[in-house]
Amino acid sequence: MGKTILVVADVRHQALRQVTYELLGAANQLANGGAVHVVVLGHQVEVPELGAHGADVVWQVDDEALAHYTPASYRKAFLHIYQSVSPQVVLFAHSAIGKDLAPMVAMRLGLGQISDVIHLDASGEKPTFTRPIYAGKALTKVAPKSEPYVLTLRPNNLPPYTGEQKTAQVQNVDITFETPDLITMVQEVIHKATGGVDLTEAKIIVSGGRGVKSAEGFQPLQELADVLGAAVGASRGACDAGYCDYALQIGQTGKVVTPDLYIACGISGAIQHLAGMSNSKVIVAINKDPEAPIFQIADYGIVGDLFEVVPLLTKAFKQALT
Ligand code: FAD
Repeated sequence: MGKTILVVADVRHQALRQVTYELLGAANQLANGGAVHVVVLGHQVEVPELGAHGADVVWQVDDEALAHYTPASYRKAFLHIYQSVSPQVVLFAHSAIGKDLAPMVAMRLGLGQISDVIHLDASGEKPTFTRPIYAGKALTKVAPKSEPYVLTLRPNNLPPYTGEQKTAQVQNVDITFETPDLITMVQEVIHKATGGVDLTEAKIIVSGGRGVKSAEGFQPLQELADVLGAAVGASRGACDAGYCDYALQIGQTGKVVTPDLYIACGISGAIQHLAGMSNSKVIVAINKDPEAPIFQIADYGIVGDLFEVVPLLTKAFKQALT
């Protein structure tokens, strides 16, 4: 029997992030012919036609109180839509907002949650979800015990919807936000310039560790990233040493990424770093120490000085891509 699924769009800078389309793809698999609803929370968000991406109903809550994420205002808006839809499954992105909001509403509603899903199998009677455990060292399969339940899906892992075009019905919903709802208010958001490509959604990441030796040492990595259309990331070693901003940190206490290609430059491969990148589809490691642990998980290893190897790669890719 078809199920009703509610997707919470992942919004950044007033636009839907790519992971929203992956959520819609997963929702259609779980719906099994049922209805896929998507809720867009924000202010003046640019919402494309979502029928083509697998939505049957689009709920839009547009309010100044939702211009920036605050737990209380988003929770209130979400719960309002949840009551109207009464879904069997709710899908959030495993993003900064999803990781905050999903457990909060799951607790409020008394629902179970399966977090950080990287694969789903909806072919059996009950769906099963695969998620990493022990900092990515192992994978486990989990089946929900009861409905409704909440899922968070890791970006870059599940395919977007490729089925037939649907005609999405759009519902605009007004919600009154009063001061007691807004326990916290965002007064100003300062955007940091981190090279433009969103790390968690990047298809290619060029990452630097303590081996880059200085802030200037990141320059050759940035040049390679520019040629490849990649994002620049870093190990905590590089961040702690002050070579780059903590916004770039990948790992257990940083961002979790799953790009198609991860190029680790001057990174030793500590377990805490691997927790954030070991599910990358192809890993290339450049390190002058042939015994560096990063080579144990790398698909391709280059033993050498990154200051020689990286510019050679940049030159070769430039020639190949032009
Ligand atoms: P190092 O371990 O110092 O490695 C530098 C590497 O560069 C070496 O392998 C060296 O051979 C190589 N190298 C040097 N010069 C060159 C050159 N010219 N060319 C090529 N190679 C060169 N770390 C994270 O990354 N992310 C996290 O989220 C994270 N969370 C943590 C949480 C906790 C609770 C703890 C305790 C630690 C955490 N760490 C994290 C830190 C982690 O344990 C390591 O200390 C860190 O990852 C090391 O960073 P690194 O590989 O850049 O530095």
